[in-house]
Amino acid sequence: MPLLAKRLDLIQPSPSIGAMNRAKALAAAGEDICNMAAGEPDFPTPPHIVEATAQAMRDGATRYTATDGTAALKSAIAAKFERENHLKVATSNISVASGAKQIIYNAFTSTIDEGDEVIVPAPYWVSYPDIVKLNGGVPVFVTASAAQCFKMTPQQLAEALTPRTKWLVLNSPNNPSGAIYSEDELRGFAHVLRDHPQVHVMTDDIYEHLIYDGLTHSTFAHTNPDFLNRTLTINGVSKTYAMTGFRIGYACGPLELIKAMEKLQSQSTSNPAAVSQAAAVAALNGPLSFFAEWRDAYRMRRDRLVELLHGNAGLECPTPDGAFYVYVSCASQIGKITPGGKLINNDSDFVMYLLDEFKVATVQGAAYGVSPAFRISFATSMDVIEEACHRIIQACEALR
Ligand code: PMP
Ligand code: GLU
Repeated sequence: MPLLAKRLDLIQPSPSIGAMNRAKALAAAGEDICNMAAGEPDFPTPPHIVEATAQAMRDGATRYTATDGTAALKSAIAAKFERENHLKVATSNISVASGAKQIIYNAFTSTIDEGDEVIVPAPYWVSYPDIVKLNGGVPVFVTASAAQCFKMTPQQLAEALTPRTKWLVLNSPNNPSGAIYSEDELRGFAHVLRDHPQVHVMTDDIYEHLIYDGLTHSTFAHTNPDFLNRTLTINGVSKTYAMTGFRIGYACGPLELIKAMEKLQSQSTSNPAAVSQAAAVAALNGPLSFFAEWRDAYRMRRDRLVELLHGNAGLECPTPDGAFYVYVSCASQIGKITPGGKLINNDSDFVMYLLDEFKVATVQGAAYGVSPAFRISFATSMDVIEEACHRIIQACEALR
């Protein structure tokens, strides 16, 4: 009898975590790596949050807490949803977990039966389809290519819906494309979904503050108030506050679902780390004024990256509206031969070539469902960005 469950064959290790780990291991081994794979802010966690964390330890935040979040954190989250997203929700409609990823895991595991369908617009963040599959569900991909600015249309949504559809996943700003849905577009999706009352909406707003050029973010349940009880609105402190290692994500949604997620979590990880919850209280109740400077830095890096890559050596690099990634088409490189004589068959080959021969770590488009492309994170210094772009162009020019 094999040790491992068949279920595990349904998924792959997270490709973004894999790429991050590969880059870190090569750097630790002394290689001169440009790490453009990391999906986390490179800024330090703001000092007032670090200080509050240390104080919380001294004050005894070292024990179990309520399973899905302390009262103090749920209050801070309710206030955040009202202040930033204009959502008025009771603390009983809020769930806290060890990262937004665990929130997604809890929500899908609590709701998906064998054969249930989840609509996932592509390009998508790597974990949605695999968590669906692990639970016996079927991800239904709707491709939104660069030609349509990586945005699904209401018409495409309508065509993907079936009686088995349980969820629609929306992620705006999007990882990896940076695309942001406008209020009109969100209204368009709601219009379609009103005829399909069995469908719930999972909206992942984790990059909500990472928006450029004066655009704004609106969350689905605010734009469509009649969907408040059909929407799981997900967020976390990882990206906004540079707190990826604290592992705190949260959501608000229908009571029945929030209760089910709590039950599941009580039999898996129990509460998120007490001290991380205290840190998240300090983050959410504290100032956000530091973020304007971060946003400006990200925007300048984005602009430089696009300027250096777009239209060069056959690369197409659309300017993202949000998040900290560019999603670059490498269609012109496919079918070419490396100086070492290897054929570039697809974007995974291209990304391995960049890493092996030019020491630039990125993530292959195949992981995000739209190929041939690759994701470059600009959550890194301007110097590294410029060096990486220089090497990428060199790499493309060396192909025959
Ligand atoms: N959603 C998206 C779109 C992400 O990019 C990430 C980053 N890992 C997450 C969710 C999960 O974030 P975390 O688990 O750190 O809260
Ligand atoms: N969300 C980040 C990324 O896409 C972190 C890695 C992960 O959790 O997948 O790179």
